[in-house]
Amino acid sequence: MTDFNRYVWSFYRWGLDLLFPPSCVSCKRVGAWLCEPCAQQIPLFEGTLCPRCGRPWSKPDLCPVCRKTPLQVNPIRSVFIFDSPIREALHALKYRGGGSVVTTLAARMDEAWRRQGMESDLLLPVPLHPSREVKRGYNQATLLALALGKQVDVPVGTRVLKRVRNTPSQTKLNRQERKENMADAFVCASGLSLAGIRVTLIDDVATTGATLNACAGVLLQAGAEAVNAFTLARAP
Ligand SMILES: [Zn+2]
Ligand SMILES: [Zn+2]
Repeated sequence: MTDFNRYVWSFYRWGLDLLFPPSCVSCKRVGAWLCEPCAQQIPLFEGTLCPRCGRPWSKPDLCPVCRKTPLQVNPIRSVFIFDSPIREALHALKYRGGGSVVTTLAARMDEAWRRQGMESDLLLPVPLHPSREVKRGYNQATLLALALGKQVDVPVGTRVLKRVRNTPSQTKLNRQERKENMADAFVCASGLSLAGIRVTLIDDVATTGATLNACAGVLLQAGAEAVNAFTLARAP
């Protein structure tokens, strides 16, 4: 984004906040998209999960989906379930310039990271296609990765992965269609070796894992020792 575009964007945001001031998506109190007391009350996504894809699953072995087609990203873990008020907070983060939501949730992300015993040498946000990032003004996954990286003291790479194909929205696609939609969507920065590096992909929501898996494929090809993923929310 050019400096001029950034200026216009921040002016627009300022005007919008003046007309429609942010209010907590949970308790409606004016001031922030998610207030501190409400953020503290959201339950972490815990319990028995599939050891690989992280969907709720009552047995210790892999879920039926992973037994059929195991993901390359292993495991996927998430801070919260994709439900109110996280669903509304994510909407504010993505479409209302609600970057402050990330700051409010950083401590909770840190809490979930430690409780789930996550280990990583490098955090990589799932990239948006450049045209979409310019339109939005930021990548919400990058904001999440930077906030988490600061908390858990792991470096963040914002130019390692690139999205080279502007894939259509996945919301109406099934598992197989999502997988095909994501094929060749990502590349790794050329000349980069990830040999011996344990990478963690960061994104806002995990659904079927197709996007995370497509990223994991190119990272493993670039020599990454292992790729896991950590998302703010898990869609059921
Ligand atoms: Zn609140
Ligand atoms: Zn699974």
